[in-house]
Amino acid sequence: AVDTVVLDKTGTVTSGQMSVVSVEPAAGVPDGELRLVAASLEHASEHPIARAVAALVEPVAVESFENHAGFGVSGVVDGRRALVGRPAWVREQGVDVPSTGSGTNGRDHTTVAVAWDGSFRGTIAVADTIKPTSAKAIADLGTLGLEPILLTGDGRAVADAVAAEVGIERVFADVTPADKLQTVRDLQAEGRVVAMIGDGVNDAAALAAADLGIAMGTGTDVAIQASDLTLVKGDLATAVDAVRLSRATLRTIRANLAWAFGY
Ligand code: ADP
Ligand code: MG
Repeated sequence: AVDTVVLDKTGTVTSGQMSVVSVEPAAGVPDGELRLVAASLEHASEHPIARAVAALVEPVAVESFENHAGFGVSGVVDGRRALVGRPAWVREQGVDVPSTGSGTNGRDHTTVAVAWDGSFRGTIAVADTIKPTSAKAIADLGTLGLEPILLTGDGRAVADAVAAEVGIERVFADVTPADKLQTVRDLQAEGRVVAMIGDGVNDAAALAAADLGIAMGTGTDVAIQASDLTLVKGDLATAVDAVRLSRATLRTIRANLAWAFGY
């Protein structure tokens, strides 16, 4: 009965295996210090951005670590009260993050801000690649009559670029985990039957609320627990197979019922 498929971007349409493309310290901040603080803080997070940043240098211990799903991470590194995350979120914590230049997202990369002791200390840009099977799987969903919608906490420029590449027209970018849930509810209120496909902690609430929640087997445990189906290989093509198989199963059940009553 599903007619709409909401797809998370990072780790669902894209590989989620991010790599760091640039490290830009703010004026007067040593490059090594920026890398050390950011990598140490991200070490304890399982977000794709965190895994890329954590690989920069050998981390040191972090105290009072906190993961803010869909926004970033915070904690104390070697006496510094540090934050790494979405530039708008770091700004909300009272840090003066530059809104132009290196602080903004590009078409092909996501920029996170690093701050400690109340000051902006630099940015780290990470990039991801689209899974080779995504475009075909999304086209196949269209053939089955399902409208694909991209839903991401990442910035508008990156989201639009990925959507264009895989053939998705409707895009919701810069959304918080709470907004992901609300978007699914709004679509349901329009009378749509919604499947949500995601992999992150930030997708869990939306996965649980959707009529059909599909998790990437390569994703987080929370996403897998909140969903109805898990795609073991983390390949979107198997979501298409699941819809086809379900429809075929239902057809067989109906045909058998008809024959049984007839008999
Ligand atoms: P998506 O919806 O694409 O899976 P998320 O909702 O997980 O993305 O994250 C949205 C944004 O929040 C990211 O683009 C990044 O700016 C920021 N963010 C989330 N988690 C982290 C983290 N561990 N480290 C740095 N930034 C993060
Ligand atoms: Mg994700």
